[in-house]
Amino acid sequence: MAQMGRAVGASLTLPPLSAMAQQRANNVDKRKVNIALCGLGRYANVLKAGIAASNYCHLAGIITGTPAKATQWMTEFNIPHKNSYTYQTFDQIIHNPAIDLVYITLPNGLHKEFTLRAAKAGKHVIVEKPMAFTPQDCQQMIDACQQAGVQLAVGYRLHYDPHHIELKRLGQHKVFGQVRLIEASLGYRLAGIPPDDWHLKKALAGGGPLMNLGVYCVQSARYVLGEEPLAVTAQFGPVTMPDLFREVEENITWQLYFPSGAICTSSCTSNCSIDRFYASADEGYFELEPALSYGPFKGRSSQGAFDFPVVNQQAAQLDDIAQHILSKKALPSHIAGEEGRRDMRVIEGIYRAATTGQKVNLV
Ligand code: NAD
Repeated sequence: MAQMGRAVGASLTLPPLSAMAQQRANNVDKRKVNIALCGLGRYANVLKAGIAASNYCHLAGIITGTPAKATQWMTEFNIPHKNSYTYQTFDQIIHNPAIDLVYITLPNGLHKEFTLRAAKAGKHVIVEKPMAFTPQDCQQMIDACQQAGVQLAVGYRLHYDPHHIELKRLGQHKVFGQVRLIEASLGYRLAGIPPDDWHLKKALAGGGPLMNLGVYCVQSARYVLGEEPLAVTAQFGPVTMPDLFREVEENITWQLYFPSGAICTSSCTSNCSIDRFYASADEGYFELEPALSYGPFKGRSSQGAFDFPVVNQQAAQLDDIAQHILSKKALPSHIAGEEGRRDMRVIEGIYRAATTGQKVNLV
């Protein structure tokens, strides 16, 4: 893990520190952000490993509706009973100075409610993607955190992976000239999923694979180009599992049109596996496959294969957020609530374009 810390740190350009400033930084570095995980499902189980591997985070509390999980997590992580909450008792966390930050890993439809409640309790928030269902909801979350004087991050783990940092560099610095075409797609086959799973319910998921996975494709296009899309066209794909996909889409494809003239085509699907990114520029190309999942990623450009370390994305993400909070610095905008709001504006446009069959302007 020390190796991972170095790899991530190496991507930051820091000014030289005076001896006193270095001493202060060392003191800050010894502290940790005390995190309570809210919703102990699949992703919370990934994050617990990330927290354990981090340097600046401590798993201090839990919020769960399942008493057996509470017992299991309290035992496994030595969490005191006073730091364990249910969704009903959660607001009492306002009285608990042992928790600094709530990391929300609940179904999408609960992100807004729990962000507002955590902010009201004076806790910093990391909320999982998609941030909420609409840009308006995202704005309410941003406003609530601002008013409460707490920081709000979205769980954008890919910003901390060296492969994606490289994609950003190659695209934004035009290393191979202007990027003209991007293809970024993500999908998993959900054939065996129970029909009552929340991912299939509009009220809790907000939509199908676009809500679940689409932000990764939208994000990668936006950060590789360093531009905001002007317009979008989109098409719903076939429904091959009608018993499951009654409320949300099973397949969707869209095209984003950027000010430079670049176009990004993406598909998100619950019907098959796909996990790839490809950018074609005037004088070359760069690509990743796998590209958007947890990896390990593999990539190359027209100059040859990438050779970057495999990092624990969650630990890197958590440590960066924690270091900003510990040193009372505003989070970088590309992982803060504002970024989630921008993505939701695009996602809302994609749904509108697929529903109406019209090109939708995003500006
Ligand atoms: P999950 O179903 O495994 O976990 C959700 C948890 O919420 C469960 O513990 C469940 O008991 C609890 N819950 C509370 N109220 C609920 C309700 N009304 N209905 C259903 N469950 C309820 O889901 P997950 O895969 O862990 O996803 C949780 C969030 O994390 C989602 O927003 C998802 O998009 C996000 N996620 C992010 C990543 C990533 O890589 N950043 C990966 C997976 C999931």
